[in-house]
Amino acid sequence: MRHLLSIEDLDRADVERILDRARAFTEVSEREIKKVPALRGRRVLNLFYEASTRTRSSFELAAKTLSAEVINFVSSGSSVEKGESLKDTVQTLSAYRPDLIVVRTPHVGAAGLVARWTPAGVVNAGDGKHEHPTQALLDVHTLRERLGTLDGLDIWIVGDVLHSRVARSNVLAFQMMGARVTVCGPPTLIPRGFEALGCAVEHTLDRLGEADVVYALRMQHERMTDSFVPSLREYAAVYQIDGRRLGPRQVLMHPGPVNRGVELSAEVIDSPQALIGQQVAAGVVVRMAVLYELLAGRASGDRAPTTRAGGMEYA
Ligand code: ASP
Repeated sequence: MRHLLSIEDLDRADVERILDRARAFTEVSEREIKKVPALRGRRVLNLFYEASTRTRSSFELAAKTLSAEVINFVSSGSSVEKGESLKDTVQTLSAYRPDLIVVRTPHVGAAGLVARWTPAGVVNAGDGKHEHPTQALLDVHTLRERLGTLDGLDIWIVGDVLHSRVARSNVLAFQMMGARVTVCGPPTLIPRGFEALGCAVEHTLDRLGEADVVYALRMQHERMTDSFVPSLREYAAVYQIDGRRLGPRQVLMHPGPVNRGVELSAEVIDSPQALIGQQVAAGVVVRMAVLYELLAGRASGDRAPTTRAGGMEYA
């Protein structure tokens, strides 16, 4: 595998191999010296045209933990402000001979275009409202670590599905791993024909009690060109996940950043049922595993690193 542009680039065996490797990498994150030489001498370019807290920092940490060189490019303060196009920027930065480009842009399909303009491998770290495959992988990892398997789970994804790249990637990944997925939100915030992905669609939380996992999405104001709900207060009254709606056996997830008091109430964010912190921690080891897969996986015969007393082996 050269690029990771969509969850559709992977099958179940790929996901399991990558996440088994992520599990093995957890041990590195727990060491005092958090570094292994697996990607020594490789160059990773982080190319971010959109705001990011978790994704950018965890890709950087993942690459550095594997001893890769990291170049961070953010569009503000660069020649993008002088009008340089994405294509020219990618071709310019490709002169530095990166082995991998991690790219986030507001445009659907942009990561696929970048893959055509550079000899480097490309990871889609979010292309507009289209896909965010590494978010889906870290969410599957978080659920596997907590619940063992996704087979047979009922997962409800609640909120602004229309503007969410996480929703599409996660529906595909959760179903591939054996879960049943329901998306729920006001009709204005569910894309028409979304059932074609294989999930159910609901417009009320009446049957939320059937869910094993409740996955809330952020209201994504930055992508809204219209008014999709009468007001945030009315939206929260009908769709907010709060202590009354979250059942005691359900786990709660959210990709972050959270709008406190809109899609989630403060009490559930801070409850032990929330896996939000675990999702953030999973971001580092899962992105390490993705970098390893794309940059070293084939060379090492696709074998997962094994852990031994003295550390990690890369046979
Ligand atoms: N951080 C996620 C993303 O970049 C989710 C969000 O922004 O709501 O898509």
